Amino acid sequence: MTDYKKLADLLFPNMDKTPEYYENFYPERNLKEGARVTRLAPSPTGFLHFGNLFTGMAAYKTAKSTDGIFYVRVEDTDQKRKIDGAIETMLEGLKAYGVTADEGVMTDGSQKGNYGPYVQSQRVEIYHTYAKYLVEQGLAYPCFCSTEELDYIRAKQENEDIKGYYGKYAKCRDLSYDEIKANIDAGKTWTLRLKSPGDINKKCFFDDMIKGKIEMPENVIDIVLLKTDGIPTYHFAHVIDDHLMRTTHVTRGDEWIASVPLHLQLFRALDFKPVKYAHIAPIMKEENGGKRKLSKRKDPEAAVTYYKQEGFPCAAVNEYMMTIMNSNFEDWRKANKEADIDDFPFNLKKMSVSGALFDTAKLTDVSKNVISTMSAEEVFELSYEWAKEYNAALAGLYEKDKSYAAAVLNIDRGNKKPRKDIAKWSDIPEYISYMYDETFEENYELTGNATPELAIKILTLYKDIVDTSDDKDTWFSKIKEICAPVGCTPNVKEFKQNPDAFAGHVGDVSTVIRVALTGRTNTPDLYAITALLGKERVRNRIERAIRHYEEVK
Ligand code: GLU
Repeated sequence: MTDYKKLADLLFPNMDKTPEYYENFYPERNLKEGARVTRLAPSPTGFLHFGNLFTGMAAYKTAKSTDGIFYVRVEDTDQKRKIDGAIETMLEGLKAYGVTADEGVMTDGSQKGNYGPYVQSQRVEIYHTYAKYLVEQGLAYPCFCSTEELDYIRAKQENEDIKGYYGKYAKCRDLSYDEIKANIDAGKTWTLRLKSPGDINKKCFFDDMIKGKIEMPENVIDIVLLKTDGIPTYHFAHVIDDHLMRTTHVTRGDEWIASVPLHLQLFRALDFKPVKYAHIAPIMKEENGGKRKLSKRKDPEAAVTYYKQEGFPCAAVNEYMMTIMNSNFEDWRKANKEADIDDFPFNLKKMSVSGALFDTAKLTDVSKNVISTMSAEEVFELSYEWAKEYNAALAGLYEKDKSYAAAVLNIDRGNKKPRKDIAKWSDIPEYISYMYDETFEENYELTGNATPELAIKILTLYKDIVDTSDDKDTWFSKIKEICAPVGCTPNVKEFKQNPDAFAGHVGDVSTVIRVALTGRTNTPDLYAITALLGKERVRNRIERAIRHYEEVK
């Protein structure tokens, strides 16, 4: 019988702290009943995937909707994949969408809170304390197998159901103290493995917050807890950190679901109360009638920077994200049109089991809605910020006269049924192009009953009576006045009853004017456009249009 205490001292000679020490050092949190403690545990690999934001948002909302705590822990145990500055970039990205931590690693890289350090590479002493404890309990042992030996085992197991280091394959499981000491004295490196207490014939049951009741075989694999350099594996660090940081709910990607039996076994081995799990399925995309994961390689929308570059406002992305995150969000929104999104009672249980479906068309719709309810000032400010970074030409136009720009963006805003022309800031240059001579594009194509001949007559009369300081009623009565002299009727109904009697109706008259002024047949309120363009530009454009129609008639 191995003396586990002696073995633990051999393996961890300098560890004098105990689990009790840390239990006391990181006491249970004093939160109100039902408050949840959640976290996001990014690895510093430098890329904020939409899925990270989605998972982070789920964790954040879970904490916020229960007056709990949301914290960020950096999982940097894989030093090979580490990229400098990656965490700051990721946290900045999350912050833009309101996902900010109460505790843990902050956007500037500093750490805040009483449960730290929140960076795994700074917690090695803690992991070793618990590793030593497991050895003392006879629940962990050093393994001296070389990579070649492990490869050999893997090859032998090719046709077996259970793969890994266990049972008859676990050759270091029962080494005696003397054998271990001899190996160590000979300078052999070792990993620390769990001596799994699992029973192959027993089942492990758990209730996932999203996926429901799950039943899986118990874990029997003696997984690695500490690598040869003493750095813990994800599994070991997860269980220790989430316990000591007093996490209540672990929201993470469902690629981890197969590891739950192992994690629950570790919680038990360490005498910890297990966390509750919520496994989030990957975001899916429809393709060729099927579904596939949103892919970092194939889909630009997979990168959170995409939304910023395109100019989707964060509020719109959040609103969209919530529609695919909680199945009842859209109904809630219909019933609470004006409500702050933070008032929505977010619920992990309403998340998709099989994976939320990402749909750019839907995002575009949601974003149009969100932008349509913003004030002109807000649209101006947000799009100006965007333009400064991504569209110097637009920023330049804005800077010529900011109040003019805001007034342009205000056209038809605040109406009962606001227009929904803008889905993202990058739509704005095209949307407002005719409001600036620099970007106005002539296009004199007519629709309806208008012909070049009729257009010449209308524009010639209009040129003399248009007054850009008229109020809306006067402006419209002037347009109606033009009708009779050019053979049109101001009354659309009358035209419909007797189309042969007229050259057109008031709609055709305004189309001609609209096309001359904007180069388009569909625009927001023509009155507002005319007033803003101002006398000189209006006359100028009318004259240019007349010249054009003279040439083509
Ligand atoms: N660092 C892990 C990952 O990026 C986190 C998983 C978890 O949330 O526990 O996959």
